Amino acid sequence: MVLILEGKPAAEAVYDRIRQELASLPEGRKLPCLAAIIVGDVAASRLYINTKIKACESVGFRSLLVELPESVTQDELLAQVQLLNDDPDVHGIIVQLPLPVQLSEAQITEAILPAKDVDGFHPFNIGKMCLGMSGLRPATPAGIITLLDHYQVQTEGRHCVVLGRSNIVGMPIAVLLSKNEPRGNATVTLCHSKTPDIQRFTREADILIAAVGIPEWVKADWIKEGAIVIDVGIHRISDTNLKKGYRVCGDVDFQEVAPKTSFITPVPGGVGLMTVAQLLKNTFYAYLALEHQHIGIINS
Ligand code: NAP
Repeated sequence: MVLILEGKPAAEAVYDRIRQELASLPEGRKLPCLAAIIVGDVAASRLYINTKIKACESVGFRSLLVELPESVTQDELLAQVQLLNDDPDVHGIIVQLPLPVQLSEAQITEAILPAKDVDGFHPFNIGKMCLGMSGLRPATPAGIITLLDHYQVQTEGRHCVVLGRSNIVGMPIAVLLSKNEPRGNATVTLCHSKTPDIQRFTREADILIAAVGIPEWVKADWIKEGAIVIDVGIHRISDTNLKKGYRVCGDVDFQEVAPKTSFITPVPGGVGLMTVAQLLKNTFYAYLALEHQHIGIINS
């Protein structure tokens, strides 16, 4: 039987826990605040930011949206990040990616104070993750771990194949799954665009994580019977039969692949919801560390 790993119940469990913990803090406390910077007017970026802001409202966090024009310079953006770093009422900072070509994502990421880096992209936090130290974990990979935990999916001793080695998804999920931690202890193979005969690896996978950015790329004959499939990809495919003119799909051909799996995430409604939930979890951890000196609790 196939179990669909819906993100909604797992994300709601994260939100309920945040609400409870927030309610247990002393009266008159500051509220956690997530600040989001958006550059230009890309429809997808705006949609993602709006979703994050709505999630903040739903758990009782404050949010702050900083909108900058497409033409903003690197120095202007860095100055804005610095203002938020220095603002004692802001606990988490995100800069919605991708940025226009004149801007260096790496430099902006590094400019965010590591203690407020709730996307978990800063080299300081990535380094801490690799060393197994407390720190803010990258939101999508840590969200996947939370999802596996929610559904009690065992990873220990299993062979996990990750497709894609980006700094924000593929590389960090490979690190987390191979750690000696709960929902870790897997044996991980990391594949990328220079991996020859990729299906040789995917057919061996007990757990397959697809994060390549190619719509419906993974087919049924790529996976073994009973595999666990986590689809990170998100794509809008034009579909004139639908009123809205498009449909959303992942990197996995869900219709073909799902019947062959034991667990599979849907797109939409899977990993994307967990990314937002983890972002809020990270914001709450950052808030507790900054306001209440809760050191060492920051872990996925
Ligand atoms: P990315 O930075 O473009 O990285 C893609 C990775 O896939 C690279 O490592 C690349 O290999 C590899 N790749 C590309 N074509 C390949 C091929 N033909 N064979 C093998 N490997 C190949 O993408 P990303 O940021 O990790 O995102 C991946 C997908 O996840 C996208 O669809 C993105 O929209 C989605 N995403 C979703 C969420 C969410 O919350 N659900 C969050 C982040 C991203 P090389 O390194 O060799 O180039």
